[in-house]
Amino acid sequence: MPQSGSYLVKEIFGPTIQGEGFHSGRACVFLRFAVCNLACTWCDTDFRPQGAESLSAEAIAQRLVALDVAKSRLVVVTGGEPSLQWDAELAAAVAEAGFTAHMESNGTRRLHAPVDWLTVSPKPHFHPRSLELVATDPSEIKVVIDDVVSAETLDGYQQRYPQVRHWFAQPCMDDRHEHHLARTLELIGERPSWRLSVQLHKLVGVP
Ligand code: SF4
Repeated sequence: MPQSGSYLVKEIFGPTIQGEGFHSGRACVFLRFAVCNLACTWCDTDFRPQGAESLSAEAIAQRLVALDVAKSRLVVVTGGEPSLQWDAELAAAVAEAGFTAHMESNGTRRLHAPVDWLTVSPKPHFHPRSLELVATDPSEIKVVIDDVVSAETLDGYQQRYPQVRHWFAQPCMDDRHEHHLARTLELIGERPSWRLSVQLHKLVGVP
């Protein structure tokens, strides 16, 4: 991990679109941190520290502003696991630069500073026992559907978070995507409060 006051950033990129969940299709820029506390086998993100940069909060905010040429002023904060590094100093710098911050977290860690929208994307079969969901106030829950996630798992999240209004099931885009999509549609068909999320950015070919 970098020294206090700096953040290990894998990439900052944009302008692009948010491809998943409630805000899919919205213009934004992305802040991707290095490092994750889980190791999901189908993870499609390179979050290794190799090649990451140690940046100050001010430098991150400046880069976001420079990339956000259309002034979406929406930053998607992701990783890796962004809650490992997101703190009050960075939240303040991003807010002062005019950005709304949306975070995607695996939900196993409490946030050290607030965000404007929190997507919890739990990875139940990759959580060791000690890493139960601790996120307290998700804005949406988005579950990647693979061969392992069960209907009981989805129902269990709704019991865990009765206050959440937005539920998304997203087929895993590995080499069994068609199978996962069919299963996702079946699960949604039996659970109308869940909605389909697809990785729109992959379908339209943007990062
Ligand atoms: S929690 Fe997310 S970033 Fe971390 S290993 Fe799993 S899919 Fe990858």
